Amino acid sequence: TMGDVLAFAEQRDGSLRGVANEVVTVAAAVARELGGSVTALAVGAPGLAAEAGSLGAFGAELVRVAEATELDGYNGDQHAPVVAQVIREGGFSAAVFPATAQGKDLAPRVAALLDVPLAADVTDLDASGGAVTAVRPVYAGKAFARVAFAASPAMVSIRPNAFQPVERAAAGAVEAFTPQVSSAGSRVVGFSASGGGQMDVAEASVVVSGGRGMKDPENWALLEELRDALGSAAALGASRAVVDAGWRPHGEQVGQTGKTVAPKLYFAVGISGAIQHLAGMRTAGTIVAVNKDPDAPIFQVADYGIVGDLFDVVPRLTEEIRRITHD
Ligand code: FAD
Repeated sequence: TMGDVLAFAEQRDGSLRGVANEVVTVAAAVARELGGSVTALAVGAPGLAAEAGSLGAFGAELVRVAEATELDGYNGDQHAPVVAQVIREGGFSAAVFPATAQGKDLAPRVAALLDVPLAADVTDLDASGGAVTAVRPVYAGKAFARVAFAASPAMVSIRPNAFQPVERAAAGAVEAFTPQVSSAGSRVVGFSASGGGQMDVAEASVVVSGGRGMKDPENWALLEELRDALGSAAALGASRAVVDAGWRPHGEQVGQTGKTVAPKLYFAVGISGAIQHLAGMRTAGTIVAVNKDPDAPIFQVADYGIVGDLFDVVPRLTEEIRRITHD
Protein backbone atom coordinates (compact mmCIF):
# COMPACT_ATOMS: atom_id res chain seq x y z
CA THR A 1 0.00 0.00 0.00
CA MET A 2 0.92 3.63 -0.48
CA GLY A 3 3.40 4.88 2.07
CA ASP A 4 4.78 1.46 2.89
CA VAL A 5 8.52 1.06 2.93
CA LEU A 6 10.62 -2.04 2.37
CA ALA A 7 13.83 -2.45 4.35
CA PHE A 8 16.33 -4.98 3.01
CA ALA A 9 17.93 -6.74 5.99
CA GLU A 10 21.34 -8.05 5.00
CA GLN A 11 22.58 -11.33 6.40
CA ARG A 12 25.83 -13.19 6.18
CA ASP A 13 26.27 -16.84 7.15
CA GLY A 14 22.75 -16.91 8.54
CA SER A 15 23.21 -13.92 10.86
CA LEU A 16 21.68 -10.51 10.29
CA ARG A 17 24.30 -7.79 9.97
CA GLY A 18 24.31 -4.79 12.30
CA VAL A 19 23.63 -2.53 9.34
CA ALA A 20 20.16 -4.11 9.02
CA ASN A 21 19.13 -2.19 12.15
CA GLU A 22 20.22 1.06 10.48
CA VAL A 23 18.28 0.22 7.31
CA VAL A 24 15.10 -0.59 9.26
CA THR A 25 15.46 2.57 11.37
CA VAL A 26 15.73 4.71 8.23
CA ALA A 27 12.80 2.90 6.62
CA ALA A 28 10.71 3.48 9.75
CA ALA A 29 11.45 7.22 9.69
CA VAL A 30 10.41 7.43 6.03
CA ALA A 31 7.28 5.33 6.62
CA ARG A 32 6.28 7.62 9.49
CA GLU A 33 6.41 10.63 7.15
CA LEU A 34 4.55 8.80 4.40
CA GLY A 35 1.92 7.36 6.73
CA GLY A 36 2.78 3.75 5.93
CA SER A 37 4.40 0.79 7.64
CA VAL A 38 7.71 -1.03 7.34
CA THR A 39 8.27 -4.50 6.00
CA ALA A 40 11.76 -5.88 6.48
CA LEU A 41 12.95 -8.52 4.05
CA ALA A 42 15.75 -10.98 4.71
CA VAL A 43 16.87 -13.53 2.14
CA GLY A 44 18.86 -16.65 2.93
CA ALA A 45 18.97 -20.31 3.80
CA PRO A 46 16.26 -22.01 5.90
CA GLY A 47 16.58 -21.13 9.58
CA LEU A 48 17.14 -17.42 9.05
CA ALA A 49 13.63 -16.56 10.29
CA ALA A 50 14.59 -17.66 13.80
CA GLU A 51 16.66 -14.56 14.36
CA ALA A 52 14.85 -12.04 12.16
CA GLY A 53 12.37 -10.99 14.87
CA SER A 54 14.92 -8.60 16.34
CA LEU A 55 14.20 -6.22 13.46
CA GLY A 56 10.84 -5.42 15.01
CA ALA A 57 12.63 -3.48 17.71
CA PHE A 58 13.96 -1.08 15.07
CA GLY A 59 10.59 -0.41 13.50
CA ALA A 60 9.64 -3.31 11.22
CA GLU A 61 5.96 -4.17 11.67
CA LEU A 62 6.42 -7.24 9.51
CA VAL A 63 9.59 -9.22 8.87
CA ARG A 64 9.40 -11.40 5.78
CA VAL A 65 12.07 -14.03 5.38
CA ALA A 66 12.64 -15.66 2.01
CA GLU A 67 14.21 -19.01 2.77
CA ALA A 68 15.65 -21.52 0.32
CA THR A 69 18.77 -23.66 0.38
CA GLU A 70 19.87 -22.11 -2.94
CA LEU A 71 19.86 -18.69 -1.28
CA ASP A 72 22.57 -19.58 1.20
CA GLY A 73 25.48 -17.25 0.44
CA TYR A 74 24.90 -14.07 -1.53
CA ASN A 75 24.50 -14.29 -5.29
CA GLY A 76 22.98 -11.32 -7.12
CA ASP A 77 21.62 -13.46 -9.95
CA GLN A 78 19.42 -15.33 -7.49
CA HIS A 79 18.82 -12.81 -4.71
CA ALA A 80 17.80 -9.83 -6.87
CA PRO A 81 14.76 -11.47 -8.53
CA VAL A 82 13.47 -12.59 -5.12
CA VAL A 83 13.75 -9.07 -3.70
CA ALA A 84 12.25 -7.49 -6.84
CA GLN A 85 9.29 -9.85 -6.68
CA VAL A 86 8.55 -8.95 -3.05
CA ILE A 87 8.73 -5.23 -3.86
CA ARG A 88 6.50 -5.64 -6.90
CA GLU A 89 3.84 -7.51 -4.92
CA GLY A 90 3.97 -5.19 -1.93
CA GLY A 91 3.38 -1.91 -3.77
CA PHE A 92 5.97 -0.08 -1.70
CA SER A 93 6.57 3.67 -1.95
CA ALA A 94 10.23 3.32 -1.01
CA ALA A 95 12.84 0.61 -0.58
CA VAL A 96 15.96 0.99 1.55
CA PHE A 97 19.15 -1.06 1.11
CA PRO A 98 22.55 -0.84 2.80
CA ALA A 99 25.42 0.51 0.66
CA THR A 100 27.60 -2.38 1.78
CA ALA A 101 29.54 -4.58 -0.63
CA GLN A 102 26.46 -6.81 -0.91
CA GLY A 103 24.00 -3.91 -1.11
CA LYS A 104 26.07 -2.17 -3.79
CA ASP A 105 25.67 -5.28 -5.93
CA LEU A 106 22.05 -6.03 -5.05
CA ALA A 107 20.32 -2.62 -5.09
CA PRO A 108 21.20 -1.68 -8.71
CA ARG A 109 20.12 -5.14 -9.91
CA VAL A 110 16.75 -4.78 -8.16
CA ALA A 111 16.34 -1.22 -9.48
CA ALA A 112 17.02 -2.48 -13.00
CA LEU A 113 14.55 -5.35 -12.66
CA LEU A 114 11.88 -2.88 -11.47
CA ASP A 115 12.96 -0.20 -13.94
CA VAL A 116 13.10 2.49 -11.24
CA PRO A 117 15.89 4.91 -10.30
CA LEU A 118 18.28 4.28 -7.41
CA ALA A 119 20.10 6.80 -5.24
CA ALA A 120 23.23 5.06 -4.00
CA ASP A 121 25.35 5.64 -0.91
CA VAL A 122 22.89 8.05 0.66
CA THR A 123 23.88 9.95 3.81
CA ASP A 124 20.57 11.69 4.52
CA LEU A 125 16.98 10.98 3.66
CA ASP A 126 13.84 13.10 3.95
CA ALA A 127 10.19 12.33 3.31
CA SER A 128 8.49 15.27 4.99
CA GLY A 129 5.83 16.61 2.68
CA GLY A 130 5.14 13.15 1.31
CA ALA A 131 7.91 12.90 -1.29
CA VAL A 132 11.21 11.14 -0.70
CA THR A 133 14.42 13.05 -1.32
CA ALA A 134 17.90 11.70 -0.68
CA VAL A 135 21.24 13.36 -0.09
CA ARG A 136 24.32 11.70 -1.52
CA PRO A 137 27.95 12.76 -1.71
CA VAL A 138 29.24 13.51 -5.20
CA TYR A 139 32.66 14.46 -6.61
CA ALA A 140 34.41 12.26 -4.07
CA GLY A 141 32.59 13.91 -1.19
CA LYS A 142 33.36 17.50 -2.11
CA ALA A 143 29.69 18.28 -2.67
CA PHE A 144 26.29 16.84 -1.79
CA ALA A 145 23.47 16.33 -4.26
CA ARG A 146 19.83 16.22 -3.16
CA VAL A 147 17.90 13.95 -5.47
CA ALA A 148 14.17 13.38 -5.99
CA PHE A 149 12.60 10.31 -7.58
CA ALA A 150 10.56 10.30 -10.78
CA ALA A 151 9.22 6.77 -10.24
CA SER A 152 7.99 4.60 -7.39
CA PRO A 153 9.30 2.95 -5.30
CA ALA A 154 12.02 5.43 -4.43
CA MET A 155 15.06 3.18 -4.06
CA VAL A 156 18.04 4.15 -1.95
CA SER A 157 21.10 2.48 -0.50
CA ILE A 158 22.31 4.10 2.71
CA ARG A 159 25.93 4.49 3.73
CA PRO A 160 26.72 2.18 6.68
CA ASN A 161 27.20 4.02 9.99
CA ALA A 162 25.75 7.26 8.58
CA PHE A 163 22.47 6.69 10.43
CA GLN A 164 22.01 5.87 14.08
CA PRO A 165 19.83 2.79 14.73
CA VAL A 166 16.95 3.57 17.10
CA GLU A 167 15.31 0.87 19.20
CA ARG A 168 11.74 0.95 20.40
CA ALA A 169 9.71 -1.32 22.64
CA ALA A 170 7.92 -3.36 20.01
CA ALA A 171 8.20 -6.65 18.22
CA GLY A 172 7.60 -7.40 14.56
CA ALA A 173 5.70 -10.37 13.23
CA VAL A 174 7.96 -12.80 11.38
CA GLU A 175 6.71 -14.61 8.32
CA ALA A 176 8.94 -17.11 6.52
CA PHE A 177 8.15 -18.09 2.95
CA THR A 178 9.73 -20.11 0.18
CA PRO A 179 10.40 -17.91 -2.84
CA GLN A 180 10.73 -19.10 -6.38
CA VAL A 181 14.46 -19.23 -7.03
CA SER A 182 15.72 -18.66 -10.53
CA SER A 183 18.07 -21.29 -11.89
CA ALA A 184 19.24 -18.88 -14.61
CA GLY A 185 22.50 -16.96 -14.32
CA SER A 186 25.44 -17.92 -12.16
CA ARG A 187 25.51 -20.10 -9.08
CA VAL A 188 27.96 -19.93 -6.21
CA VAL A 189 29.59 -23.34 -5.92
CA GLY A 190 32.35 -22.49 -3.48
CA PHE A 191 33.34 -19.74 -1.12
CA SER A 192 36.59 -19.05 0.66
CA ALA A 193 37.22 -16.08 2.93
CA SER A 194 40.39 -14.04 2.82
CA GLY A 195 41.76 -12.09 5.75
CA GLY A 196 42.03 -13.06 9.37
CA GLY A 197 38.41 -12.58 10.38
CA GLN A 198 39.03 -9.03 11.58
CA MET A 199 36.26 -6.45 11.46
CA ASP A 200 36.06 -4.88 7.99
CA VAL A 201 37.11 -1.25 7.84
CA ALA A 202 33.94 -0.30 5.93
CA GLU A 203 31.72 -1.67 8.70
CA ALA A 204 33.60 -0.66 11.82
CA SER A 205 32.24 2.14 13.97
CA VAL A 206 35.79 3.07 14.95
CA VAL A 207 38.67 3.13 12.45
CA VAL A 208 42.38 3.52 13.14
CA SER A 209 44.17 4.35 9.88
CA GLY A 210 47.89 4.62 9.32
CA GLY A 211 49.83 6.35 6.55
CA ARG A 212 53.36 6.70 5.30
CA GLY A 213 54.29 8.52 8.50
CA MET A 214 54.26 5.10 10.19
CA LYS A 215 57.64 4.58 8.46
CA ASP A 216 57.66 0.77 8.54
CA PRO A 217 55.02 -2.01 8.46
CA GLU A 218 56.40 -3.36 11.74
CA ASN A 219 55.22 -0.20 13.45
CA TRP A 220 51.59 -1.24 12.86
CA ALA A 221 51.84 -2.98 16.23
CA LEU A 222 51.27 0.53 17.66
CA LEU A 223 48.04 0.92 15.72
CA GLU A 224 46.91 -2.61 16.58
CA GLU A 225 47.28 -1.77 20.24
CA LEU A 226 45.27 1.42 19.79
CA ARG A 227 42.60 -0.53 17.90
CA ASP A 228 42.43 -3.19 20.61
CA ALA A 229 42.10 -0.53 23.29
CA LEU A 230 39.12 0.88 21.40
CA GLY A 231 37.22 -2.41 21.57
CA SER A 232 35.78 -4.96 19.21
CA ALA A 233 34.02 -2.43 16.97
CA ALA A 234 37.35 -0.97 15.85
CA ALA A 235 39.22 -1.83 12.66
CA LEU A 236 42.44 -0.85 10.95
CA GLY A 237 42.52 1.33 7.84
CA ALA A 238 45.32 2.57 5.60
CA SER A 239 46.23 5.25 3.10
CA ARG A 240 46.97 4.29 -0.47
CA ALA A 241 50.65 5.13 -0.06
CA VAL A 242 51.12 2.30 2.42
CA VAL A 243 48.97 -0.12 0.44
CA ASP A 244 50.97 0.63 -2.71
CA ALA A 245 54.14 0.05 -0.72
CA GLY A 246 52.85 -3.40 0.20
CA TRP A 247 52.76 -2.58 3.91
CA ARG A 248 49.05 -3.23 4.26
CA PRO A 249 46.41 -5.22 2.29
CA HIS A 250 44.24 -3.38 -0.25
CA GLY A 251 41.14 -4.39 1.74
CA GLU A 252 42.18 -1.80 4.34
CA GLN A 253 42.60 1.11 1.93
CA VAL A 254 40.38 4.11 2.64
CA GLY A 255 39.72 6.64 -0.10
CA GLN A 256 38.66 7.28 -3.64
CA THR A 257 40.16 4.05 -4.94
CA GLY A 258 39.64 2.17 -1.69
CA LYS A 259 36.72 1.92 0.70
CA THR A 260 34.37 4.65 1.80
CA VAL A 261 33.95 4.66 5.55
CA ALA A 262 31.69 6.63 7.86
CA PRO A 263 32.61 5.45 11.37
CA LYS A 264 31.66 7.36 14.49
CA LEU A 265 35.35 7.87 15.20
CA TYR A 266 38.25 7.97 12.73
CA PHE A 267 41.94 8.19 13.62
CA ALA A 268 44.30 9.36 10.86
CA VAL A 269 47.83 8.62 12.02
CA GLY A 270 50.73 9.80 9.86
CA ILE A 271 48.35 10.52 6.98
CA SER A 272 48.72 13.82 5.14
CA GLY A 273 45.06 14.10 4.13
CA ALA A 274 45.25 14.10 0.33
CA ILE A 275 41.91 14.81 -1.34
CA GLN A 276 41.70 11.19 -2.51
CA HIS A 277 42.04 9.99 1.08
CA LEU A 278 39.50 12.51 2.38
CA ALA A 279 37.03 11.24 -0.23
CA GLY A 280 36.80 8.00 1.73
CA MET A 281 36.46 9.30 5.27
CA ARG A 282 35.31 12.90 5.46
CA THR A 283 31.77 11.93 6.52
CA ALA A 284 33.12 10.23 9.66
CA GLY A 285 31.52 11.50 12.86
CA THR A 286 34.61 12.60 14.77
CA ILE A 287 38.03 12.78 13.10
CA VAL A 288 41.23 12.68 15.13
CA ALA A 289 44.48 13.41 13.30
CA VAL A 290 48.02 12.81 14.52
CA ASN A 291 50.66 14.43 12.33
CA LYS A 292 53.97 16.14 12.98
CA ASP A 293 53.30 18.72 10.26
CA PRO A 294 50.94 21.45 11.53
CA ASP A 295 50.12 22.38 7.92
CA ALA A 296 49.05 18.87 6.90
CA PRO A 297 45.69 19.12 5.08
CA ILE A 298 44.21 16.42 7.34
CA PHE A 299 43.93 19.07 10.06
CA GLN A 300 41.39 20.96 7.93
CA VAL A 301 38.86 18.17 8.35
CA ALA A 302 39.93 16.99 11.82
CA ASP A 303 37.78 17.65 14.88
CA TYR A 304 40.79 16.97 17.10
CA GLY A 305 44.29 17.53 15.81
CA ILE A 306 47.42 16.47 17.62
CA VAL A 307 50.60 18.00 16.20
CA GLY A 308 53.41 15.73 17.26
CA ASP A 309 55.48 12.67 16.57
CA LEU A 310 53.12 9.72 16.26
CA PHE A 311 55.67 7.43 17.94
CA ASP A 312 55.24 9.61 21.04
CA VAL A 313 51.57 10.38 20.74
CA VAL A 314 50.02 7.00 19.82
CA PRO A 315 51.33 4.99 22.80
CA ARG A 316 50.14 7.72 25.16
CA LEU A 317 46.76 7.86 23.44
CA THR A 318 46.45 4.07 23.74
CA GLU A 319 47.38 4.15 27.40
CA GLU A 320 44.87 6.88 28.15
CA ILE A 321 42.07 5.11 26.25
CA ARG A 322 42.85 1.86 28.11
CA ARG A 323 42.67 3.75 31.39
CA ILE A 324 39.29 5.29 30.53
CA THR A 325 37.73 2.11 29.19
CA HIS A 326 38.94 -0.07 32.07
CA ASP A 327 37.75 2.16 34.87
P1 FAD B 1 52.06 11.10 2.74
O1 FAD B 1 51.30 12.03 1.88
O2 FAD B 1 53.46 10.85 2.43
O3 FAD B 1 51.88 11.63 4.21
C1 FAD B 1 52.58 11.13 5.32
C2 FAD B 1 52.26 12.03 6.49
O4 FAD B 1 52.85 11.52 7.66
C3 FAD B 1 52.78 13.47 6.32
O5 FAD B 1 51.69 14.38 6.48
C4 FAD B 1 53.81 13.61 7.44
O6 FAD B 1 53.82 14.91 7.98
C5 FAD B 1 53.33 12.60 8.43
N1 FAD B 1 54.40 12.07 9.29
C6 FAD B 1 55.61 11.61 8.91
N2 FAD B 1 56.30 11.17 9.98
C7 FAD B 1 55.51 11.39 11.07
C8 FAD B 1 55.68 11.16 12.46
N3 FAD B 1 56.78 10.58 12.96
N4 FAD B 1 54.66 11.51 13.28
C9 FAD B 1 53.54 12.08 12.79
N5 FAD B 1 53.33 12.31 11.48
C10 FAD B 1 54.31 11.98 10.63
N6 FAD B 1 45.14 7.87 -1.26
C11 FAD B 1 44.43 7.24 -0.34
O7 FAD B 1 44.74 7.28 0.86
N7 FAD B 1 43.32 6.52 -0.70
C12 FAD B 1 42.90 6.41 -1.97
O8 FAD B 1 41.91 5.73 -2.24
C13 FAD B 1 43.64 7.09 -2.98
N8 FAD B 1 43.24 7.06 -4.28
C14 FAD B 1 43.96 7.78 -5.21
C15 FAD B 1 43.51 7.83 -6.52
C16 FAD B 1 44.20 8.58 -7.47
C17 FAD B 1 43.68 8.63 -8.87
C18 FAD B 1 45.36 9.28 -7.08
C19 FAD B 1 46.10 10.11 -8.09
C20 FAD B 1 45.81 9.24 -5.79
C21 FAD B 1 45.13 8.49 -4.83
N9 FAD B 1 45.56 8.42 -3.51
C22 FAD B 1 44.79 7.81 -2.58
C23 FAD B 1 46.90 8.92 -3.09
C24 FAD B 1 46.89 10.26 -2.42
O9 FAD B 1 46.96 11.26 -3.39
C25 FAD B 1 48.11 10.38 -1.49
O10 FAD B 1 49.28 10.17 -2.24
C26 FAD B 1 48.11 9.40 -0.33
O11 FAD B 1 46.88 9.45 0.33
C27 FAD B 1 49.23 9.76 0.63
O12 FAD B 1 49.32 8.81 1.67
P2 FAD B 1 49.89 9.23 3.09
O13 FAD B 1 49.08 10.34 3.65
O14 FAD B 1 50.00 7.98 3.88
O15 FAD B 1 51.38 9.67 2.75
